[in-house]
Amino acid sequence: MGEQGVGGGEEYLFKIVVIGDSAVGKSNLLSRFARDEFDHNSKATIGVEFQTQVVEIDGKEVKAQVWDTAGQERFRAVTSAYYRGAVGALVVYDITRKSTFDSIVKWLDELKIHCDTTVARMLVGNKSDLENIREVTVEDGKNLAEQEGLFFIETSALNSSNVNSAFEIVIREIYKNVSRKIL
Ligand code: GDP
Ligand code: MG
Repeated sequence: MGEQGVGGGEEYLFKIVVIGDSAVGKSNLLSRFARDEFDHNSKATIGVEFQTQVVEIDGKEVKAQVWDTAGQERFRAVTSAYYRGAVGALVVYDITRKSTFDSIVKWLDELKIHCDTTVARMLVGNKSDLENIREVTVEDGKNLAEQEGLFFIETSALNSSNVNSAFEIVIREIYKNVSRKIL
């Protein structure tokens, strides 16, 4: 397994990055997944590098190490160190802000520069609880995902909808890729 090294008895360690424009809900998706918490105060989380969560796939303990841009994205200064070694990515927009959806292509380009092509990618339309002020349709999301070969899901970090699924689908895909490599 080499660098997918083992920590506390888990058999796999996967680095997953969460990217997307500022304020789309990246940090809250992460804290919902890792700690089942939501932060209403939106203080830009500076300094927190990653959080980990163990999930079970096919009876195996898989540790997801999920990285947060921690505000770097506001200055378009997400470093190559952030991406290094990532095997999965959640590329997030806010369904109530079309501009964040239009930025997805830019984030995908950045991912292509820094990560190898096998990185498992999930397009995430967050804030699905705000249906009444939606600016991006489900169809828009689906179409882009299909075009770019991404998984697609809409989530709400606020009410927990689909958050675990978003991460788990990516983790399963990574697991599949790794198993294939071993065989
Ligand atoms: P980041 O900059 O992408 O890390 O975004 P944050 O996680 O800091 O969230 C930005 C703002 O959106 C905060 O005010 C959050 O409370 C809010 N937010 C995040 N996720 C959701 C969600 O699913 N629904 C709603 N209604 N608000 C959210
Ligand atoms: Mg953040």
